[in-house]
Amino acid sequence: MDGQASQAADASINKAVIIVMDSTDRSRRARSASMAESVSAHVTMVPLHLITPIIHALTRDRLNGCPPKVQGWVSTVMNKRGDHMTGLITMDDLTNEAILEILDDAERLLPVARGDTYLPLLQGKILGNLFFEPSTRTRMSFETAMKRLGGDVVNLGDVKTSSVVKGETLYDTIQMVDGYTDIIAMRHPRQGAAQYAQDSARVPVLNGGDGAGHHPTQTMLDLFTIRQAHGSLEGLKVVLAGDLRYGRTVHSLSHALTRFGCELVLASPSLLRMPREILDDLTAHGAIVTETEDLLGSINEADVVYMTRIQKERFADEDEYTKVAGAYKLHANNLEGAKASMIIMHPLPRVDEIHPSVDGTRHARYFEQAFNGVVARMALLCRLLGVSVPADVPQGGEA
Ligand code: ASP
Ligand code: ASP
Repeated sequence: MDGQASQAADASINKAVIIVMDSTDRSRRARSASMAESVSAHVTMVPLHLITPIIHALTRDRLNGCPPKVQGWVSTVMNKRGDHMTGLITMDDLTNEAILEILDDAERLLPVARGDTYLPLLQGKILGNLFFEPSTRTRMSFETAMKRLGGDVVNLGDVKTSSVVKGETLYDTIQMVDGYTDIIAMRHPRQGAAQYAQDSARVPVLNGGDGAGHHPTQTMLDLFTIRQAHGSLEGLKVVLAGDLRYGRTVHSLSHALTRFGCELVLASPSLLRMPREILDDLTAHGAIVTETEDLLGSINEADVVYMTRIQKERFADEDEYTKVAGAYKLHANNLEGAKASMIIMHPLPRVDEIHPSVDGTRHARYFEQAFNGVVARMALLCRLLGVSVPADVPQGGEA
């Protein structure tokens, strides 16, 4: 093996092999990985400093108490050694290959999402929607995805009228829903809550947003939208703008884009910069990244401009929020020098960061992006429930 770049350590648990990543040189890492693939089916690359906590977690089979990043890597190792597809908590739970397969599945499911074809792949399956925080798109698109595939949904309903208000712990709620359902989609205000739920559930958990942590199902629909517009994910220049500190969508998306070799421009007011640990993670994955406060100066070179809302609900101090509110406002006039193929995305809801004048331009993609939530979540539900999406899905009127 390429000893200089990395070394393989047999985690001595079945056939999982961990490659310790001590090089940011992507081609050396790829060479090492392919050499390791020849001796084992399950390979995972991890940064050097995480190796000890990961081996501890794996050998003791305990995730509780590990830092979230270690939990992410351990889930990846466990998924690769084929124990169980534990769910989707961060983008670390999916390999690049799995991401592309899921995007292909999503593409084939478009006629089903549009209602042109009925394909009851998930008949008899029940999704538990556990939303402890407001959600419109994520909850509704999960529900639409499940129902269009012939499955059913049970909802926790309004947290204020559920047993949570009586003091039920998250653990108890999960135990109950675990017994009622085949898969859980969960949103929670606390960072790390989705991982905790996964650790206490037997069914797969899909993280629909954990506080300022991660939002991987959003990332899958974002990647789908980018690939739909540009034909590929590789080598694009992507500007992520707005609240990079508390915005969980950009935490998950920046990681995924880096793994596909995109160049990132992180545009934010200094108070809302991308957290240090996420920047470190991006660098460890070989990121090409620039930080700036100048959004408008970054637009003309961009292939994608991803705007975000300032996450008012995450500020401990209202005055801090007032200082940055309205920091970026994109108007159609700002797009005159943009590439014709550049797309503007937003996870929604928007406040004032994209002026309605942008909606009618060729660049606006945010409403299609929201629609794509249905296909991306359909493909994820099938994957996690172990159901294959057929290679030929009728285009409509045939099923
Ligand atoms: N807060 C967002 C909304 O309004 C949540 C989401 O889209 O997932 O829907
Ligand atoms: N809907 C996204 C989320 O739930 C973005 C937002 O709320 O601003 O993270």
